[in-house]
Amino acid sequence: MKQRKIPMRMCVGCREMKPKRELLRVVKGPEGEVSFDLTGRKPGRGAYVCRSADCLNLAIKKRQLERAFSAPISEEVRESLMREIGTLPPPAEESADGE
Ligand SMILES: [Zn+2]
Repeated sequence: MKQRKIPMRMCVGCREMKPKRELLRVVKGPEGEVSFDLTGRKPGRGAYVCRSADCLNLAIKKRQLERAFSAPISEEVRESLMREIGTLPPPAEESADGE
């Protein structure tokens, strides 16, 4: 019997629960800068979003990111995030236990 807990997080864009590693972590660092956390190790307050420009856009438009960070997202930050999500490498293929 295999019992493996997959950590789930909610995308702040589409608000669906997804396995944490399929999502992108967006972090507001100690200086207030907002960036993607590709390593999962950045300090600061984080929010999760699908690896999709649509979800990111939605998260910003609906102010979900602002709510998560309790801080406004400037047009500049928004643009740089939108630009960056288009350049991110595809998710690392982890071998899923025979599934
Ligand atoms: Zn989503």
